[in-house]
Amino acid sequence: MEPRAAKKELHQRVFVNRSLTLENIKCYGFDMDYTLAVYKSPEYESLGFELLRDRLVSIGYPHELLGYTYDPTFPTRGLVYDTRYGNLLKIDSNGNILVCTHGFEYLRGGQVDEYYPNKFIQRDDTDRFYVLNTLFNLSETYLYACLVDYFTRSTRYKNCQKGFKHGDLFMSHRSMFQDVRDAMDHLHDTVTIFILTKFMVLFTLLYLYVPRLPVLLSRIKEFAKVFLATNSDFNYTEAIMKYLLDFPSGSKNPKKPWRSYFDLVVVDTRKPLFFAGGTVLRQVDTDTGKLRIGTYTGELQHGTVYSGGSSDIVCDLLDVRGKDILYVGDHIFGDILKSKKRQGWKTFLVVPELVKELQVWADKASMFEELKHLDIFLMVTYGMDLCYGKMGSLLRCGSTKTLFASQLLRYADIYSTCCLNLLNYPFSYLFRAPLVLVNLSCVSVTAVTVDEMIIVPEITRLHLQRHED
Ligand SMILES: [Mg+2]
Repeated sequence: MEPRAAKKELHQRVFVNRSLTLENIKCYGFDMDYTLAVYKSPEYESLGFELLRDRLVSIGYPHELLGYTYDPTFPTRGLVYDTRYGNLLKIDSNGNILVCTHGFEYLRGGQVDEYYPNKFIQRDDTDRFYVLNTLFNLSETYLYACLVDYFTRSTRYKNCQKGFKHGDLFMSHRSMFQDVRDAMDHLHDTVTIFILTKFMVLFTLLYLYVPRLPVLLSRIKEFAKVFLATNSDFNYTEAIMKYLLDFPSGSKNPKKPWRSYFDLVVVDTRKPLFFAGGTVLRQVDTDTGKLRIGTYTGELQHGTVYSGGSSDIVCDLLDVRGKDILYVGDHIFGDILKSKKRQGWKTFLVVPELVKELQVWADKASMFEELKHLDIFLMVTYGMDLCYGKMGSLLRCGSTKTLFASQLLRYADIYSTCCLNLLNYPFSYLFRAPLVLVNLSCVSVTAVTVDEMIIVPEITRLHLQRHED
């Protein structure tokens, strides 16, 4: 039978990196934020930015910062923040710099060399380089650019390489980074319920999404186990999931309590730690939201909510093996890379940005053709990048893959704009990856240095064999 997706628009399809038979999946796991709970963008990021900005001003940052408003065309997910020099960097999987900005200024060849003589960073230096991996990081990314922009322009401050000086006061990029990180934590800890009430309004705009979510979860539950594993705490999870599942507006499904859609609910999972040693597993008192003392060691109890634990405990409680699980998440590192690398789970990455990526891909087909032949000319790359936004594509710079794209290809078995796209395929479907020797077409010649060139005599042999077959 032809899958319904054959007739679907590109953004409604599921894309395949490695073949996967849905029939063999015995258990589906879901992350919550940005996976099941789809936030209205860019309103959500804009609100996040304002709360962060206001928090900085409340702890003593200049009031002039209040003049900045969120510009969704600037940040792209997966950028790296250099906490030493305050630059935002777009890099490939090896650490080669593709784009570099200081505030809102795009640095060109010689300017980049002044900071990074080899146009390269040691991205293993996680103390210095911070990867802005999640959609939650978008507002934070924009704030770093605003801070550098403000202090660079301010006549009160003297520009230094590692920060800004005003009299006896030195504002280092490092200290501003720490303040923004602390403001992020403050936001998570104290104002989630406030944010939530604002998002409720935004959620209602997702009228096409909300009614279909119970359909997806009910359909999966007919033949597989389903669990929720979220880093959010119980109160936040309860409020969001109630909104999404207890009263799906316009749905013909009978109203059911949200927890009945899952065989297991785990909050406070602390991914990526969850996929390694994990933490103590506790039961949550769903009336008070408080945790029961002691470690839970009993059998799985339906309707019970657990806190903490690890991926191994989830497998034990649900009686499934790692390879039988398809885990659906939006966090390339916390959800996908770690579950694949440490536990061998099958992975489904949710990439909402694909809507835009696919739109440019389709609209600018002639430009991509041009890129294949003229990759060495920077103007084509630059023109292409601008089609996506000021920082360019999530997945490429010209035809060079970004770090995010490399991780997506390596660790996500399948990926799509939204988890609901699973509904476009029968649950016995085989997602078949295209047969390729290696992905030569996406490798830019300019990005390969002599050190990296590896001679592979087997390639010629394999090619010949394929032709003979
Ligand atoms: Mg998430």
